[in-house]
Amino acid sequence: MASTASSSFFQRIPAEVRRMILIEAFGNRTVHLDLCFDHPMVYLSDEEAQKQRNHYTIDPGRARRPKRDTTRPKAWRWFSCVCHRDAEFRIRGMGSSSEPYADICLGGTAGSCRGWRGEIPYRCFIGVMGWLLTCRQAYTEGIEILYSTNNFHISNGDMIHAFPGLIRAEHRAMITSVEMMWQLNLHTNAASGWDHLTALVRAVPNSFSGLRKLYICLGGSWKPPTISPDNCIGELETSVLEVMDEMIRSLGPQLQECSIAVPASIFWPQREYGIRQGYKFESGPGYVADRVWRPLAPLRESENEEEIESGYWIREGPDDIPYPFAHIIAG
Ligand SMILES: [Zn+2]
Ligand SMILES: [Zn+2]
Repeated sequence: MASTASSSFFQRIPAEVRRMILIEAFGNRTVHLDLCFDHPMVYLSDEEAQKQRNHYTIDPGRARRPKRDTTRPKAWRWFSCVCHRDAEFRIRGMGSSSEPYADICLGGTAGSCRGWRGEIPYRCFIGVMGWLLTCRQAYTEGIEILYSTNNFHISNGDMIHAFPGLIRAEHRAMITSVEMMWQLNLHTNAASGWDHLTALVRAVPNSFSGLRKLYICLGGSWKPPTISPDNCIGELETSVLEVMDEMIRSLGPQLQECSIAVPASIFWPQREYGIRQGYKFESGPGYVADRVWRPLAPLRESENEEEIESGYWIREGPDDIPYPFAHIIAG
C-alpha cells in the first residue's frame, strides 16, 4: 500500500479511468506468442536491412530486422510481438481486417507497421514488463488488461500443449480471445494425424476456460487436394467438423464468437450445403473471407425456449490448390 500512497496515478485517477489508460497502453491488440526450436535471432547488417522494409524495421537506421543466426545452435526460443498485419484504422472498425491465416509477422514481414501510432520499434511490442514490475497494484491491474483485452495469435498450434508450463492457470483463465493455426496431417498419416487433432481439441478448453472469441485455421494436409465435381462433402470433412462441434460445445455458452477456417476446397461444398439447408451465410468484402453458419444441436441441459442460436462460422481458409493447376484437377 505504501508504494502507491503518494502516486497521483493510483490515488487521484478513478479505477475505471486507470483501466482505460492501461487498455490504451497495453491492451486491445493482437499479440503474437511463439515458442520454437530454432537458431537465435540476430539483426541484419545495415546493408542487408536497407534492402528490406518491415515489421519494426521501417527505418533500417533506427530499428533493424532480425534473422536466424545459423552459426549458433538451435534451442527453445520464446518470441512475441504486436500484430501489424493490418493498419490501426482497420482494427478499430473502420474497415475490414485481413484473415489471421494470412499473417506473416513472425517472419518479420508485417505489412502495416506504418499505419500504427507510436515510435519505432516500440510500437511493434507491448512493452508491458516495466509497468508490471513497478509495484504490486500495477501488476494486478496490468496483468488483467494484458490477458483479458488482447487477442492472442498462436501460429504454432502445438504450442498449446506447452501452455500449462508457460502461463499460470489463473492468467490463462483471463484470456478471452485466441487465434490458432493448426497443421493437420490426416491425409498422409491418418492414425497419428487423428491423435494429433484430438489432442489439440482436448487442450483448448483445458487451456482457455474463459474464451469468448476463438478462431482456428485448419491447415495442413487433411484432404487430397481435389475439387469434387459434384461439390459433395466427404466423410473425413464431416468427421473433422464433428470433432470441432464437440470442442465448441465443451467451451460452453460464454464463447460468443467462433470461426473455423478450412481449406477453400472444403469450404465451398460446405457453403453450398449450408445455403440449401437455409443456414445464414455472408460474402466478405475486401480481405474478409466468405463464411457460412454451422449450427450445433441445442444444449441438452438448456430448458430456455428462447435460447441463443448456438453454432459457429465456417470460413474460407487458404487455397489448398495452386492456382495454375486448379482447373486441371477440377477438369
Ligand atoms: Zn501478425
Ligand atoms: Zn510492426
